Amino acid sequence: MSVFDHAEFDNHESLHHFHDEKTGLQAIVAVHSTALGPAAGGTRRWVYNHDSDALTDVLRLSRGMTYKNAVAGLQFGGGKAVILANEDAPKSPELFRAFGRCVDLVGGKYVTAEDVGCSVDDMRYVREETQFVSGLPQVGADAGGDPSPWTALGCHQGIEAAVKARLGADSLQGIKVAVQGVGHVGLHLCRMLHEAGAELFISDVNNDNLKMTTDEMPATVVPPTELLFADVDVLAPCALGNILTSTTIPRIKAKIVAGAANNQLSTPADGISLAERDILYAPDYVINAGGIISVAAEYYDNGSEDDVRADVGRIKDRLQDIFDKASDTGRPTHELADELARGIVAAARK
Ligand code: NAD
Repeated sequence: MSVFDHAEFDNHESLHHFHDEKTGLQAIVAVHSTALGPAAGGTRRWVYNHDSDALTDVLRLSRGMTYKNAVAGLQFGGGKAVILANEDAPKSPELFRAFGRCVDLVGGKYVTAEDVGCSVDDMRYVREETQFVSGLPQVGADAGGDPSPWTALGCHQGIEAAVKARLGADSLQGIKVAVQGVGHVGLHLCRMLHEAGAELFISDVNNDNLKMTTDEMPATVVPPTELLFADVDVLAPCALGNILTSTTIPRIKAKIVAGAANNQLSTPADGISLAERDILYAPDYVINAGGIISVAAEYYDNGSEDDVRADVGRIKDRLQDIFDKASDTGRPTHELADELARGIVAAARK
């Protein structure tokens, strides 16, 4: 199948495949849109069963970044990179330097940062080869560093907005939250939820991450196969995407889905199914924009940590608007968010 006919192609501006013989690096960089600025989005390093899965992932993720950056009001278009993890290309400084050279070849149309499978440290090696990278170690009180705590903060405040809208509660005290994935974002989110008095249910496929969480705070560990269907108020997906499907949605007991994972809906029809079941869905790219807000302030060197905190605080207001509109019109939240994002990009193109 031609890439131009790919179901997720959606008018991407460009797509770049890279191979570095020395390190074994295989990477794809997708530039969905530069209408609002250079296409920005993190790099995911993941084991894909097949190259075509990596392609589908990067295309879906980069379009999501266009929408995320537009709704967050950033001077960034949308893009994403995936590094295909395999035994022949172990994680190493040289691998990330090679990846940095790839990013540089895209000539500034794509700005990278960390995502699943990559860290602040990895981005330091990327920075040795290109200036088109953010999410580097923080300097003083300037914006910068690991975006995950900011993503978690936006999610925490977004959960507060959803709990108010759907359950009428003004606090998270006693609210049961199931967190799927306690990695970079999930652990920070659990800390904030615990602090706010929420009751935690967690799952992860990585036992070290589970232990790190339960060593710090009380949380009921649920098997990964059961977490989505836990008897809770809020489901907070913080692992991978494609988890809200025609198979899983009928079994979800939570009244709210609000978490950090990108591309939670398998298809747009799944957003409609959630609304039909009266499950309030916080559109993923609206609630999880905290990290990219920090990345943007760092990249453009135009904000302090306090500015980032204030900007991340606006995520809650955006969600509140979407929830209100959904309640007034009876339309699903994901449709309202997509409409908003497309409108902003279309206006910029004009
Ligand atoms: P991470 O890799 O640090 O954490 C993901 C966690 O999920 C890991 O602990 C992993 O073991 C676990 N996991 C994987 N499959 C699982 C499963 N089936 N069930 C339960 N746990 C599972 O990644 P992260 O940076 O915390 O990001 C989490 C999600 O949030 C991703 O979808 C990412 O794209 C999205 N996101 C992250 C950021 C950020 O700032 N890091 C920003 C926006 C969106």
